Amino acid sequence: METHQAFVFCLATGAVVRLISPLLKDKSTDPAVVVIDETGKFVISLCGGHQGGADKLAKLIALQLGATAILTGATNGLELPAVDMLGVPFGWCRGAGDWNAVSAVVAKGENVEVIQEAGSTLWQNHLPQVHPFKFHQSPTTKAKIYITYKTSSPHPPIPSITWHPRIIWVGIGCERGTSKQVIADAIDQVFQQNQLALAAIAGIATIDIKSDEVGLVELCHERNLPLKTFSSEILRTITVPNPSQVVEKEVGTPSVAEAAAIMAASQIPNVETLYITSPAEYITSPAEYITSLKIPKQIYRPSIQNQKGAVTVAVALAKKEYIGKVGKLLLVGTGPGNLDQMTPAAQTAVASADAVIGYSLYIDLIAPILQKHQIIEALPITKERDRATRAIELAHWGLSVAVISSGDCGIYGMAGLVMEDLQLSGWDGKNPSVEVFPGVSAFQSAAARVGTPLMHDFCAVSLSDLLTPWEVIVKRLTAAAAADFVTALYNPKSQTRTQQLVEAREIFLKYRNPDTPVAVVRSVYREDEQIILTTLEKLLDAPVDMLTTILIGNQSTRSYGEWMITPRGYKRF
Ligand code: SAH
Repeated sequence: METHQAFVFCLATGAVVRLISPLLKDKSTDPAVVVIDETGKFVISLCGGHQGGADKLAKLIALQLGATAILTGATNGLELPAVDMLGVPFGWCRGAGDWNAVSAVVAKGENVEVIQEAGSTLWQNHLPQVHPFKFHQSPTTKAKIYITYKTSSPHPPIPSITWHPRIIWVGIGCERGTSKQVIADAIDQVFQQNQLALAAIAGIATIDIKSDEVGLVELCHERNLPLKTFSSEILRTITVPNPSQVVEKEVGTPSVAEAAAIMAASQIPNVETLYITSPAEYITSPAEYITSLKIPKQIYRPSIQNQKGAVTVAVALAKKEYIGKVGKLLLVGTGPGNLDQMTPAAQTAVASADAVIGYSLYIDLIAPILQKHQIIEALPITKERDRATRAIELAHWGLSVAVISSGDCGIYGMAGLVMEDLQLSGWDGKNPSVEVFPGVSAFQSAAARVGTPLMHDFCAVSLSDLLTPWEVIVKRLTAAAAADFVTALYNPKSQTRTQQLVEAREIFLKYRNPDTPVAVVRSVYREDEQIILTTLEKLLDAPVDMLTTILIGNQSTRSYGEWMITPRGYKRF
Protein backbone atom coordinates (compact mmCIF):
# COMPACT_ATOMS: atom_id res chain seq x y z
CA MET A 1 0.00 0.00 0.00
CA GLU A 2 2.84 2.45 0.81
CA THR A 3 4.37 2.22 -2.64
CA HIS A 4 1.23 3.16 -4.58
CA GLN A 5 -0.72 6.38 -4.80
CA ALA A 6 -3.97 4.77 -5.83
CA PHE A 7 -5.74 1.44 -6.37
CA VAL A 8 -8.63 1.05 -8.77
CA PHE A 9 -10.62 -2.18 -8.41
CA CYS A 10 -13.23 -3.57 -10.76
CA LEU A 11 -14.61 -5.91 -8.15
CA ALA A 12 -17.50 -6.22 -5.71
CA THR A 13 -17.15 -3.61 -2.95
CA GLY A 14 -17.40 -6.33 -0.30
CA ALA A 15 -14.45 -8.20 -1.74
CA VAL A 16 -12.41 -5.00 -1.91
CA VAL A 17 -13.21 -4.14 1.72
CA ARG A 18 -12.01 -7.56 2.84
CA LEU A 19 -8.87 -7.31 0.73
CA ILE A 20 -7.72 -3.89 1.86
CA SER A 21 -8.91 -3.67 5.46
CA PRO A 22 -5.88 -5.44 7.01
CA LEU A 23 -3.58 -3.09 5.07
CA LEU A 24 -5.08 0.27 6.01
CA LYS A 25 -3.07 2.37 8.45
CA ASP A 26 -3.95 6.03 8.63
CA LYS A 27 -6.01 8.33 6.43
CA SER A 28 -3.13 10.78 6.17
CA THR A 29 -0.90 8.15 4.52
CA ASP A 30 -3.24 5.56 2.99
CA PRO A 31 -3.53 5.63 -0.83
CA ALA A 32 -6.72 6.27 -2.78
CA VAL A 33 -8.95 3.23 -3.20
CA VAL A 34 -11.59 3.41 -5.91
CA VAL A 35 -14.06 0.70 -6.95
CA ILE A 36 -15.83 0.53 -10.31
CA ASP A 37 -18.88 -1.69 -10.60
CA GLU A 38 -18.98 -4.39 -13.22
CA THR A 39 -21.26 -2.47 -15.59
CA GLY A 40 -19.19 0.71 -15.38
CA LYS A 41 -22.13 2.78 -14.13
CA PHE A 42 -20.74 3.72 -10.74
CA VAL A 43 -17.31 4.78 -9.51
CA ILE A 44 -17.03 4.58 -5.74
CA SER A 45 -14.48 6.51 -3.72
CA LEU A 46 -14.02 3.86 -1.06
CA CYS A 47 -11.09 4.98 1.01
CA GLY A 48 -8.60 7.87 1.17
CA GLY A 49 -11.23 10.25 -0.21
CA HIS A 50 -9.53 13.51 0.70
CA GLN A 51 -5.87 13.18 1.53
CA GLY A 52 -5.41 10.03 -0.55
CA GLY A 53 -7.12 11.70 -3.51
CA ALA A 54 -9.79 9.00 -4.07
CA ASP A 55 -12.65 11.51 -4.43
CA LYS A 56 -10.82 13.37 -7.16
CA LEU A 57 -9.80 10.15 -8.91
CA ALA A 58 -13.34 8.74 -8.74
CA LYS A 59 -14.70 11.92 -10.31
CA LEU A 60 -12.10 11.85 -13.10
CA ILE A 61 -12.80 8.20 -13.89
CA ALA A 62 -16.56 8.79 -13.78
CA LEU A 63 -16.16 11.72 -16.17
CA GLN A 64 -14.39 9.52 -18.69
CA LEU A 65 -16.76 6.56 -18.34
CA GLY A 66 -19.89 8.67 -18.33
CA ALA A 67 -20.55 7.03 -14.94
CA THR A 68 -21.78 8.43 -11.63
CA ALA A 69 -19.12 9.13 -9.00
CA ILE A 70 -20.18 8.05 -5.53
CA LEU A 71 -18.60 10.14 -2.80
CA THR A 72 -19.84 9.64 0.73
CA GLY A 73 -17.64 12.05 2.72
CA ALA A 74 -19.70 14.42 4.84
CA THR A 75 -18.65 17.64 3.09
CA ASN A 76 -19.19 16.35 -0.44
CA GLY A 77 -22.73 17.58 -0.78
CA LEU A 78 -21.80 21.05 0.45
CA GLU A 79 -19.79 22.40 -2.48
CA LEU A 80 -17.14 23.38 0.07
CA PRO A 81 -13.43 22.63 0.11
CA ALA A 82 -12.62 19.96 2.70
CA VAL A 83 -10.78 21.48 5.68
CA ASP A 84 -8.11 18.78 5.53
CA MET A 85 -7.44 19.68 1.88
CA LEU A 86 -7.50 23.48 2.10
CA GLY A 87 -3.78 24.06 1.99
CA VAL A 88 -2.76 21.13 -0.20
CA PRO A 89 -2.41 23.11 -3.47
CA PHE A 90 -0.20 25.64 -1.65
CA GLY A 91 2.05 23.04 -0.01
CA TRP A 92 0.87 23.89 3.51
CA CYS A 93 1.69 21.32 6.22
CA ARG A 94 -0.93 20.00 8.61
CA GLY A 95 -0.22 20.92 12.22
CA ALA A 96 -1.90 19.94 15.46
CA GLY A 97 -5.65 19.70 15.89
CA ASP A 98 -8.76 17.63 15.95
CA TRP A 99 -9.30 17.31 12.21
CA ASN A 100 -12.31 15.00 12.45
CA ALA A 101 -14.13 17.27 14.88
CA VAL A 102 -13.57 20.40 12.76
CA SER A 103 -14.67 18.56 9.60
CA ALA A 104 -17.83 17.51 11.44
CA VAL A 105 -18.59 21.12 12.38
CA VAL A 106 -18.22 22.17 8.73
CA ALA A 107 -20.41 19.27 7.61
CA LYS A 108 -23.14 20.44 9.98
CA GLY A 109 -22.92 23.92 8.47
CA GLU A 110 -22.01 25.52 11.79
CA ASN A 111 -19.74 28.54 11.98
CA VAL A 112 -16.00 28.04 11.81
CA GLU A 113 -13.67 30.93 12.56
CA VAL A 114 -10.62 31.24 10.34
CA ILE A 115 -7.58 32.99 11.78
CA GLN A 116 -5.18 33.33 8.85
CA GLU A 117 -1.91 35.16 9.44
CA ALA A 118 0.16 33.57 6.70
CA GLY A 119 -0.19 31.98 3.31
CA SER A 120 -2.31 32.55 0.26
CA THR A 121 -5.89 33.70 0.62
CA LEU A 122 -6.76 32.53 -2.90
CA TRP A 123 -8.75 29.64 -1.43
CA GLN A 124 -11.19 32.20 0.00
CA ASN A 125 -12.01 33.69 -3.41
CA HIS A 126 -14.02 30.81 -4.77
CA LEU A 127 -16.10 29.77 -1.77
CA PRO A 128 -19.81 29.42 -2.52
CA GLN A 129 -22.05 32.28 -1.48
CA VAL A 130 -23.21 30.46 1.61
CA HIS A 131 -20.36 28.91 3.61
CA PRO A 132 -19.58 28.44 7.28
CA PHE A 133 -16.19 30.23 7.35
CA LYS A 134 -16.00 33.45 9.38
CA PHE A 135 -12.96 35.65 8.95
CA HIS A 136 -13.54 37.71 12.08
CA GLN A 137 -14.33 36.85 15.68
CA SER A 138 -17.75 35.34 15.92
CA PRO A 139 -19.67 34.46 19.09
CA THR A 140 -21.39 31.55 17.37
CA THR A 141 -18.12 29.86 16.38
CA LYS A 142 -18.10 26.11 16.90
CA ALA A 143 -14.53 25.47 15.65
CA LYS A 144 -11.39 27.32 14.67
CA ILE A 145 -8.93 27.01 11.82
CA TYR A 146 -5.52 28.59 12.37
CA ILE A 147 -3.37 29.25 9.34
CA THR A 148 -0.08 30.31 10.81
CA TYR A 149 3.69 29.92 10.94
CA LYS A 150 3.58 29.83 14.75
CA THR A 151 3.10 26.94 17.13
CA SER A 152 1.45 28.85 19.87
CA SER A 153 -2.15 28.68 18.78
CA PRO A 154 -4.06 28.79 22.03
CA HIS A 155 -6.21 25.77 22.73
CA PRO A 156 -9.75 27.04 22.79
CA PRO A 157 -12.50 24.98 24.41
CA ILE A 158 -13.84 24.27 20.92
CA PRO A 159 -12.15 22.01 18.35
CA SER A 160 -9.41 23.58 16.27
CA ILE A 161 -6.94 22.67 13.55
CA THR A 162 -3.73 24.31 12.39
CA TRP A 163 -2.32 24.62 8.89
CA HIS A 164 1.27 25.81 8.43
CA PRO A 165 2.06 27.66 5.19
CA ARG A 166 5.79 27.32 4.50
CA ILE A 167 6.92 30.94 4.74
CA ILE A 168 9.93 30.66 7.06
CA TRP A 169 13.40 30.83 5.53
CA VAL A 170 16.13 29.85 7.99
CA GLY A 171 19.46 31.53 7.37
CA ILE A 172 22.36 29.42 8.60
CA GLY A 173 26.03 30.16 9.09
CA CYS A 174 28.21 27.49 10.68
CA GLU A 175 31.77 26.46 11.35
CA ARG A 176 33.18 23.85 8.97
CA GLY A 177 32.38 20.34 10.12
CA THR A 178 29.41 21.20 12.31
CA SER A 179 27.27 18.07 12.49
CA LYS A 180 23.72 17.68 11.29
CA GLN A 181 22.58 17.18 14.90
CA VAL A 182 24.14 20.41 16.13
CA ILE A 183 22.56 22.41 13.28
CA ALA A 184 19.19 20.73 13.96
CA ASP A 185 19.49 21.50 17.69
CA ALA A 186 20.27 25.13 16.91
CA ILE A 187 17.22 25.51 14.68
CA ASP A 188 14.97 23.62 17.10
CA GLN A 189 16.07 25.83 19.99
CA VAL A 190 15.47 29.10 18.12
CA PHE A 191 12.08 27.84 16.96
CA GLN A 192 11.06 26.72 20.43
CA GLN A 193 12.11 29.98 22.04
CA ASN A 194 10.13 31.96 19.50
CA GLN A 195 7.09 29.69 19.13
CA LEU A 196 7.80 29.09 15.47
CA ALA A 197 6.49 25.94 13.80
CA LEU A 198 9.12 23.70 12.23
CA ALA A 199 6.45 22.63 9.73
CA ALA A 200 6.33 26.21 8.44
CA ILE A 201 9.96 26.12 7.26
CA ALA A 202 10.20 26.77 3.54
CA GLY A 203 13.91 26.08 3.32
CA ILE A 204 17.43 26.78 4.49
CA ALA A 205 19.54 29.62 3.11
CA THR A 206 23.29 30.14 3.33
CA ILE A 207 26.42 31.25 1.46
CA ASP A 208 27.46 29.30 -1.64
CA ILE A 209 30.71 28.01 -0.12
CA LYS A 210 28.54 26.05 2.32
CA SER A 211 26.69 24.17 -0.39
CA ASP A 212 28.87 21.13 0.38
CA GLU A 213 28.68 21.45 4.17
CA VAL A 214 27.88 17.82 5.05
CA GLY A 215 25.77 18.43 8.17
CA LEU A 216 23.69 21.08 6.43
CA VAL A 217 23.15 19.01 3.29
CA GLU A 218 22.17 15.98 5.38
CA LEU A 219 19.71 18.00 7.44
CA CYS A 220 18.03 19.39 4.33
CA HIS A 221 17.81 15.91 2.90
CA GLU A 222 16.34 14.47 6.09
CA ARG A 223 13.72 17.20 6.47
CA ASN A 224 13.06 17.45 2.76
CA LEU A 225 14.00 21.14 2.60
CA PRO A 226 15.57 23.06 -0.27
CA LEU A 227 19.01 24.57 0.39
CA LYS A 228 19.30 27.99 -1.27
CA THR A 229 22.78 29.41 -1.55
CA PHE A 230 23.97 32.90 -2.46
CA SER A 231 27.39 34.28 -3.34
CA SER A 232 29.19 36.66 -0.96
CA GLU A 233 28.84 39.41 -3.61
CA ILE A 234 25.07 39.16 -3.39
CA LEU A 235 24.90 38.73 0.39
CA ARG A 236 27.04 41.79 1.01
CA THR A 237 24.51 44.01 -0.77
CA ILE A 238 21.92 43.33 1.94
CA THR A 239 21.75 45.67 4.91
CA VAL A 240 21.43 43.58 8.07
CA PRO A 241 20.95 44.43 11.75
CA ASN A 242 24.05 42.55 12.95
CA PRO A 243 26.95 42.74 10.50
CA SER A 244 30.26 41.24 11.62
CA GLN A 245 33.72 42.35 10.55
CA VAL A 246 35.16 38.98 11.52
CA VAL A 247 32.77 37.19 9.19
CA GLU A 248 33.47 39.74 6.43
CA LYS A 249 37.21 39.07 6.68
CA GLU A 250 36.67 35.35 6.47
CA VAL A 251 34.06 34.98 3.70
CA GLY A 252 33.76 38.40 2.04
CA THR A 253 30.33 39.43 3.41
CA PRO A 254 29.53 40.88 6.83
CA SER A 255 26.50 38.64 7.15
CA VAL A 256 25.68 35.08 6.12
CA ALA A 257 22.68 33.91 8.17
CA GLU A 258 20.74 37.17 8.23
CA ALA A 259 21.51 38.19 4.66
CA ALA A 260 20.81 34.71 3.24
CA ALA A 261 17.50 34.44 5.11
CA ILE A 262 16.44 37.86 3.84
CA MET A 263 17.51 37.03 0.29
CA ALA A 264 15.61 33.76 0.20
CA ALA A 265 12.51 35.30 1.75
CA SER A 266 12.53 38.40 -0.45
CA GLN A 267 12.20 36.41 -3.68
CA ILE A 268 14.80 38.51 -5.39
CA PRO A 269 15.21 37.68 -9.10
CA ASN A 270 18.45 35.72 -8.77
CA VAL A 271 16.73 33.13 -6.62
CA GLU A 272 16.80 30.68 -9.46
CA THR A 273 13.29 29.23 -9.29
CA LEU A 274 11.35 32.44 -9.03
CA TYR A 275 9.70 34.15 -11.91
CA ILE A 276 9.88 37.91 -12.24
CA THR A 277 6.52 39.34 -13.24
CA SER A 278 7.65 42.90 -13.07
CA PRO A 279 11.07 43.74 -11.69
CA ALA A 280 9.56 46.52 -9.60
CA GLU A 281 7.77 43.92 -7.52
CA TYR A 282 11.04 42.64 -6.16
CA ILE A 283 13.16 45.74 -5.93
CA THR A 284 12.61 46.58 -2.32
CA SER A 285 14.61 48.99 -0.29
CA PRO A 286 17.02 47.74 2.40
CA ALA A 287 14.61 48.99 5.04
CA GLU A 288 11.99 46.59 3.73
CA TYR A 289 14.49 43.75 3.83
CA ILE A 290 14.90 44.25 7.55
CA THR A 291 11.19 44.11 8.19
CA SER A 292 11.11 40.64 6.70
CA LEU A 293 13.74 39.49 9.23
CA LYS A 294 11.75 37.88 12.00
CA ILE A 295 14.56 36.72 14.26
CA PRO A 296 17.98 38.39 14.01
CA LYS A 297 20.96 36.10 14.23
CA GLN A 298 21.29 33.84 17.25
CA ILE A 299 24.55 32.06 17.96
CA TYR A 300 24.31 28.49 19.15
CA ARG A 301 27.07 26.37 20.62
CA PRO A 302 26.44 22.76 21.65
CA SER A 303 26.29 22.33 25.42
CA ILE A 304 27.22 18.66 25.28
CA GLN A 305 30.93 17.94 25.49
CA ASN A 306 32.56 16.31 22.45
CA GLN A 307 30.14 18.07 20.12
CA LYS A 308 32.05 20.66 18.20
CA GLY A 309 30.98 23.45 15.92
CA ALA A 310 28.89 26.59 16.17
CA VAL A 311 25.80 27.68 14.31
CA THR A 312 24.29 31.08 13.55
CA VAL A 313 20.56 31.04 12.91
CA ALA A 314 18.43 33.89 11.55
CA VAL A 315 14.81 33.69 10.48
CA ALA A 316 13.05 35.65 7.75
CA LEU A 317 9.44 35.45 6.68
CA ALA A 318 8.46 35.40 3.02
CA LYS A 319 5.30 37.12 1.86
CA LYS A 320 4.41 34.12 -0.22
CA GLU A 321 4.64 30.47 0.85
CA TYR A 322 6.99 27.99 -0.76
CA ILE A 323 4.88 25.29 -2.39
CA GLY A 324 7.68 22.78 -2.89
CA LYS A 325 6.39 21.41 -6.20
CA VAL A 326 7.39 22.05 -9.79
CA GLY A 327 4.47 24.00 -11.25
CA LYS A 328 2.68 22.88 -14.38
CA LEU A 329 1.12 24.74 -17.25
CA LEU A 330 -1.60 22.72 -18.93
CA LEU A 331 -2.47 24.50 -22.17
CA VAL A 332 -5.88 23.17 -23.01
CA GLY A 333 -8.11 23.44 -26.05
CA THR A 334 -11.73 23.06 -24.95
CA GLY A 335 -13.19 22.54 -28.41
CA PRO A 336 -15.91 24.63 -29.99
CA GLY A 337 -18.18 24.84 -26.96
CA ASN A 338 -20.14 21.71 -26.25
CA LEU A 339 -18.42 19.47 -23.65
CA ASP A 340 -18.99 16.45 -25.92
CA GLN A 341 -16.52 17.97 -28.34
CA MET A 342 -13.75 18.35 -25.72
CA THR A 343 -11.24 15.49 -25.68
CA PRO A 344 -11.17 13.24 -22.58
CA ALA A 345 -7.50 14.12 -22.06
CA ALA A 346 -8.34 17.83 -22.04
CA GLN A 347 -11.21 17.24 -19.61
CA THR A 348 -8.95 15.32 -17.24
CA ALA A 349 -6.28 18.02 -17.46
CA VAL A 350 -8.76 20.74 -16.49
CA ALA A 351 -10.36 18.68 -13.72
CA SER A 352 -6.98 17.85 -12.19
CA ALA A 353 -5.53 21.39 -12.17
CA ASP A 354 -5.17 23.52 -9.03
CA ALA A 355 -6.18 26.62 -10.97
CA VAL A 356 -8.10 27.25 -14.19
CA ILE A 357 -7.62 30.47 -16.13
CA GLY A 358 -9.53 31.57 -19.19
CA TYR A 359 -12.00 33.91 -20.83
CA SER A 360 -15.22 33.95 -18.81
CA LEU A 361 -17.43 32.66 -21.65
CA TYR A 362 -15.29 29.54 -22.06
CA ILE A 363 -15.04 28.99 -18.29
CA ASP A 364 -18.87 28.96 -18.23
CA LEU A 365 -19.03 26.49 -21.10
CA ILE A 366 -16.91 23.94 -19.20
CA ALA A 367 -18.48 24.59 -15.76
CA PRO A 368 -19.62 20.96 -15.29
CA ILE A 369 -16.03 19.69 -15.13
CA LEU A 370 -14.69 22.36 -12.76
CA GLN A 371 -13.98 21.23 -9.20
CA LYS A 372 -15.10 22.97 -6.06
CA HIS A 373 -11.60 23.34 -4.60
CA GLN A 374 -10.15 24.87 -7.78
CA ILE A 375 -8.96 28.45 -8.11
CA ILE A 376 -10.97 29.77 -11.05
CA GLU A 377 -9.83 33.01 -12.64
CA ALA A 378 -12.07 34.21 -15.43
CA LEU A 379 -10.85 37.31 -17.23
CA PRO A 380 -12.44 39.45 -19.95
CA ILE A 381 -11.61 38.54 -23.55
CA THR A 382 -9.34 41.52 -24.09
CA LYS A 383 -7.03 40.53 -21.23
CA GLU A 384 -5.22 37.73 -23.02
CA ARG A 385 -1.71 38.89 -22.13
CA ASP A 386 -2.74 39.30 -18.50
CA ARG A 387 -4.12 35.77 -18.49
CA ALA A 388 -0.83 34.39 -19.79
CA THR A 389 1.22 36.39 -17.26
CA ARG A 390 -0.99 35.31 -14.39
CA ALA A 391 -0.86 31.64 -15.41
CA ILE A 392 2.93 31.72 -15.62
CA GLU A 393 3.18 33.45 -12.26
CA LEU A 394 1.02 30.82 -10.55
CA ALA A 395 2.89 27.96 -12.25
CA HIS A 396 6.29 29.35 -11.29
CA TRP A 397 5.05 29.47 -7.76
CA GLY A 398 4.28 25.72 -7.92
CA LEU A 399 0.62 25.36 -8.86
CA SER A 400 -0.67 23.29 -11.73
CA VAL A 401 -2.53 25.75 -13.92
CA ALA A 402 -4.88 24.95 -16.79
CA VAL A 403 -5.05 27.76 -19.32
CA ILE A 404 -8.04 27.24 -21.53
CA SER A 405 -8.81 28.43 -25.04
CA SER A 406 -11.79 27.56 -27.18
CA GLY A 407 -11.14 25.27 -30.11
CA ASP A 408 -7.48 24.34 -30.23
CA CYS A 409 -5.36 26.33 -27.79
CA GLY A 410 -2.46 26.35 -30.25
CA ILE A 411 -4.50 27.87 -33.10
CA TYR A 412 -4.95 31.62 -32.55
CA GLY A 413 -5.19 30.62 -28.88
CA MET A 414 -3.65 31.17 -25.46
CA ALA A 415 -0.96 28.49 -25.80
CA GLY A 416 1.15 30.63 -28.10
CA LEU A 417 0.98 33.64 -25.78
CA VAL A 418 2.02 31.55 -22.80
CA MET A 419 4.93 29.95 -24.67
CA GLU A 420 6.08 33.33 -25.98
CA ASP A 421 6.05 34.84 -22.49
CA LEU A 422 7.84 31.84 -21.03
CA GLN A 423 10.55 32.21 -23.63
CA LEU A 424 10.90 35.92 -22.84
CA SER A 425 11.25 35.15 -19.14
CA GLY A 426 14.28 32.95 -19.78
CA TRP A 427 12.40 29.70 -19.14
CA ASP A 428 14.64 26.61 -18.88
CA GLY A 429 12.09 24.44 -20.71
CA LYS A 430 11.35 22.37 -17.61
CA ASN A 431 10.21 24.54 -14.73
CA PRO A 432 7.31 25.04 -14.93
CA SER A 433 6.56 21.97 -16.98
CA VAL A 434 4.30 22.47 -19.97
CA GLU A 435 1.82 20.11 -21.58
CA VAL A 436 -0.40 21.06 -24.51
CA PHE A 437 -3.81 19.41 -24.96
CA PRO A 438 -5.21 19.77 -28.47
CA GLY A 439 -8.83 20.63 -29.10
CA VAL A 440 -11.20 20.57 -32.05
CA SER A 441 -10.63 23.88 -33.81
CA ALA A 442 -13.40 26.06 -35.26
CA PHE A 443 -12.50 25.17 -38.85
CA GLN A 444 -12.93 21.47 -38.11
CA SER A 445 -16.21 21.95 -36.26
CA ALA A 446 -17.59 24.27 -38.94
CA ALA A 447 -16.54 21.82 -41.66
CA ALA A 448 -18.15 18.89 -39.85
CA ARG A 449 -21.49 20.71 -39.67
CA VAL A 450 -21.61 21.31 -43.43
CA GLY A 451 -20.08 18.10 -44.74
CA THR A 452 -16.55 17.62 -46.03
CA PRO A 453 -15.29 20.96 -47.33
CA LEU A 454 -11.73 20.45 -46.05
CA MET A 455 -11.24 17.07 -47.71
CA HIS A 456 -8.20 18.19 -49.68
CA ASP A 457 -5.45 20.77 -49.10
CA PHE A 458 -6.63 23.70 -47.04
CA CYS A 459 -5.37 26.59 -44.98
CA ALA A 460 -6.56 29.01 -42.31
CA VAL A 461 -6.10 32.77 -42.38
CA SER A 462 -7.09 35.14 -39.61
CA LEU A 463 -8.41 38.48 -40.85
CA SER A 464 -7.53 40.21 -37.59
CA ASP A 465 -4.89 42.85 -38.22
CA LEU A 466 -4.52 43.70 -34.54
CA LEU A 467 -1.36 41.61 -34.20
CA THR A 468 -0.47 41.05 -37.87
CA PRO A 469 0.01 43.86 -40.47
CA TRP A 470 -2.78 43.91 -43.09
CA GLU A 471 -0.23 43.73 -45.96
CA VAL A 472 0.93 40.36 -44.66
CA ILE A 473 -2.65 39.11 -44.47
CA VAL A 474 -3.33 40.28 -48.05
CA LYS A 475 -0.23 38.44 -49.23
CA ARG A 476 -1.39 35.23 -47.61
CA LEU A 477 -4.95 35.55 -48.88
CA THR A 478 -3.65 36.10 -52.41
CA ALA A 479 -1.34 33.08 -52.19
CA ALA A 480 -4.11 30.88 -50.73
CA ALA A 481 -6.58 31.96 -53.40
CA ALA A 482 -4.06 31.47 -56.22
CA ALA A 483 -2.97 28.05 -54.95
CA ASP A 484 -6.60 26.91 -54.79
CA PHE A 485 -6.54 26.03 -51.09
CA VAL A 486 -9.89 25.59 -49.39
CA THR A 487 -9.62 28.48 -46.95
CA ALA A 488 -10.97 28.96 -43.43
CA LEU A 489 -11.25 32.60 -42.41
CA TYR A 490 -10.95 33.19 -38.66
CA ASN A 491 -11.77 36.49 -36.94
CA PRO A 492 -13.58 37.65 -40.10
CA LYS A 493 -15.24 40.77 -38.76
CA SER A 494 -15.74 42.74 -35.59
CA GLN A 495 -17.67 45.89 -34.74
CA THR A 496 -14.64 48.01 -35.60
CA ARG A 497 -13.08 45.82 -38.32
CA THR A 498 -15.56 45.57 -41.15
CA GLN A 499 -13.53 46.09 -44.36
CA GLN A 500 -11.22 43.10 -44.14
CA LEU A 501 -13.86 40.62 -45.26
CA VAL A 502 -14.84 42.84 -48.21
CA GLU A 503 -11.24 42.89 -49.40
CA ALA A 504 -10.70 39.19 -48.76
CA ARG A 505 -13.72 38.35 -50.94
CA GLU A 506 -12.40 40.52 -53.77
CA ILE A 507 -9.03 38.73 -53.67
CA PHE A 508 -10.74 35.32 -53.90
CA LEU A 509 -13.00 36.47 -56.73
CA LYS A 510 -9.87 37.14 -58.81
CA TYR A 511 -9.02 33.43 -58.70
CA ARG A 512 -12.33 31.59 -58.13
CA ASN A 513 -15.78 31.48 -59.64
CA PRO A 514 -18.44 33.73 -58.10
CA ASP A 515 -20.53 30.58 -57.43
CA THR A 516 -17.79 28.88 -55.36
CA PRO A 517 -19.54 27.38 -52.29
CA VAL A 518 -18.96 29.22 -49.03
CA ALA A 519 -20.10 28.22 -45.51
CA VAL A 520 -20.68 30.89 -42.91
CA VAL A 521 -20.80 29.14 -39.54
CA ARG A 522 -21.51 30.95 -36.32
CA SER A 523 -21.23 29.62 -32.74
CA VAL A 524 -20.79 26.10 -33.98
CA TYR A 525 -21.84 23.40 -31.45
CA ARG A 526 -23.22 26.07 -29.14
CA GLU A 527 -26.85 26.79 -28.32
CA ASP A 528 -27.05 29.73 -30.75
CA GLU A 529 -25.39 27.89 -33.65
CA GLN A 530 -26.20 29.35 -37.09
CA ILE A 531 -25.12 27.88 -40.42
CA ILE A 532 -25.50 29.53 -43.80
CA LEU A 533 -24.44 27.99 -47.10
CA THR A 534 -23.84 30.65 -49.73
CA THR A 535 -21.45 31.55 -52.54
CA LEU A 536 -18.44 33.79 -52.85
CA GLU A 537 -20.56 36.28 -54.78
CA LYS A 538 -23.22 36.53 -52.07
CA LEU A 539 -20.89 36.21 -49.08
CA LEU A 540 -21.39 39.79 -47.92
CA ASP A 541 -25.16 39.29 -47.57
CA ALA A 542 -24.64 36.74 -44.76
CA PRO A 543 -24.47 37.94 -41.15
CA VAL A 544 -20.87 37.67 -39.96
CA ASP A 545 -19.33 38.55 -36.59
CA MET A 546 -16.46 37.58 -34.31
CA LEU A 547 -18.07 34.24 -33.46
CA THR A 548 -18.15 33.21 -37.12
CA THR A 549 -15.82 31.05 -39.18
CA ILE A 550 -16.03 31.21 -42.98
CA LEU A 551 -15.06 28.29 -45.20
CA ILE A 552 -14.36 29.13 -48.85
CA GLY A 553 -14.35 26.13 -51.16
CA ASN A 554 -11.73 25.48 -53.84
CA GLN A 555 -12.43 25.15 -57.54
CA SER A 556 -13.62 21.56 -57.11
CA THR A 557 -15.86 22.12 -54.10
CA ARG A 558 -19.56 21.54 -54.79
CA SER A 559 -22.68 22.28 -52.89
CA TYR A 560 -25.22 19.48 -52.73
CA GLY A 561 -28.44 20.36 -50.97
CA GLU A 562 -27.46 21.31 -47.42
CA TRP A 563 -23.95 19.99 -47.89
CA MET A 564 -20.60 21.27 -49.03
CA ILE A 565 -18.37 18.61 -50.56
CA THR A 566 -14.74 18.86 -51.65
CA PRO A 567 -13.66 15.70 -53.49
CA ARG A 568 -10.78 13.63 -52.11
CA GLY A 569 -8.95 13.69 -55.46
CA TYR A 570 -9.41 15.85 -58.54
CA LYS A 571 -8.67 13.40 -61.34
CA ARG A 572 -12.36 12.95 -62.16
CA PHE A 573 -12.92 16.69 -62.63
N1 SAH B 1 -8.51 28.72 -30.79
C1 SAH B 1 -9.73 28.88 -31.55
C2 SAH B 1 -9.72 30.12 -32.40
C3 SAH B 1 -9.72 31.40 -31.62
S1 SAH B 1 -9.70 32.83 -32.64
C4 SAH B 1 -9.97 27.63 -32.38
O1 SAH B 1 -9.05 26.83 -32.56
O2 SAH B 1 -11.11 27.46 -32.83
C5 SAH B 1 -11.39 33.30 -32.57
C6 SAH B 1 -12.07 32.99 -33.86
O3 SAH B 1 -12.31 31.59 -33.94
C7 SAH B 1 -13.45 33.61 -33.99
O4 SAH B 1 -13.38 34.93 -34.48
C8 SAH B 1 -14.10 32.70 -34.99
O5 SAH B 1 -13.62 32.98 -36.29
C9 SAH B 1 -13.52 31.34 -34.61
N2 SAH B 1 -14.42 30.60 -33.69
C10 SAH B 1 -14.14 30.26 -32.43
N3 SAH B 1 -15.16 29.55 -31.89
C11 SAH B 1 -16.09 29.44 -32.84
C12 SAH B 1 -17.38 28.82 -32.91
N4 SAH B 1 -17.87 28.14 -31.88
N5 SAH B 1 -18.07 28.90 -34.07
C13 SAH B 1 -17.56 29.55 -35.13
N6 SAH B 1 -16.35 30.15 -35.13
C14 SAH B 1 -15.63 30.11 -34.00
